[in-house]
Amino acid sequence: MSKPIEAPGTIALIGLGNMGQPMAGCLARAGYKVVGFDTGAAARERFAAAAQGTVANSLETAVAQADAVITMLPTGKIVRAVVEAIRPHLRPETVIIDMSSSEPLGTRDLAKELAAAGFGLVDAPVSGGVKRAVDGSLAIMAGGEAAVIDRVDPILKAMGRSIFRTGASGSGHAMKALNNYVSGAGLVAAVEALRIGGAFGLDPDIMVDVLNASTGKNNSTEVKLKQFVISETYASGFFIGLMAKDIRIADTLAKELGVDVPLADSTADLWDKAADKLGAMADHTEIARFRAKD
Ligand code: NAD
Repeated sequence: MSKPIEAPGTIALIGLGNMGQPMAGCLARAGYKVVGFDTGAAARERFAAAAQGTVANSLETAVAQADAVITMLPTGKIVRAVVEAIRPHLRPETVIIDMSSSEPLGTRDLAKELAAAGFGLVDAPVSGGVKRAVDGSLAIMAGGEAAVIDRVDPILKAMGRSIFRTGASGSGHAMKALNNYVSGAGLVAAVEALRIGGAFGLDPDIMVDVLNASTGKNNSTEVKLKQFVISETYASGFFIGLMAKDIRIADTLAKELGVDVPLADSTADLWDKAADKLGAMADHTEIARFRAKD
């Protein structure tokens, strides 16, 4: 059985965006050699300036020496395209870790195809946002074969504080989509409460204090309302298009499994409409500015 991939092994990190960049920093601090690649020149330059590893000029050169390849990309579709492009250039026994929030059933298919070619795939999406990507305290949900997860365990521990093994391939991605459905519905509930309270004449800061000392508390009331919504800074570092995608993944999964979920249906529709209207790269906390009737 192959050994765990310990530092100073080489990790190719594909996707140096809001999350990929700070995650590379955690890997570098843990002693790994990080080779980064992104199709965006600005992302490559930011990574080079942070001196957290080597910037590759192509996918092929990024993965050529890698013991593990991490993908931190917008969608599962992009992950599949990247994996198909790098596959002929991988060293034997290289493990691919998809830390993006991808579609679970697509991940299951990709894992089967990779296994047939002798490569392991772990789906290991994350939660906690940019702040926890920076300090290496992400929650990570790992799906896949136990022996393959064992090999990448030291890598995951360099970036996360809570590592959950969720089961077979795709289960991490299913869990991530469900988490973001609960998170996205919670944010909408909180901003709608602020809107009703505002119309009644309640002070928004007092409202948040009451919610956080009461049963209405959720992640959004704790770390988003005052920080990004009431302050109108809208700078959480998570795009609204990505949140809409995640909630749609959860809702589609429900449909594929024949589960009746009216709140998820309307939540997915609402986030899709908001992303459409505000633009996919608006911050997700800008959902507070969206009016369904506009
Ligand atoms: P981002 O848009 O900031 O970064 C994605 C990066 O991928 C971009 O720099 C883009 O140029 C690059 N990219 C796109 N296509 C590429 C390709 N074919 N090859 C190489 N690079 C390519 O997004 P992010 O916020 O870093 O999110 C990445 C993933 O993590 C998404 O799946 C998202 O849903 C998930 N996620 C984000 C957060 C967050 O708070 N931002 C939290 C948890 C999970």
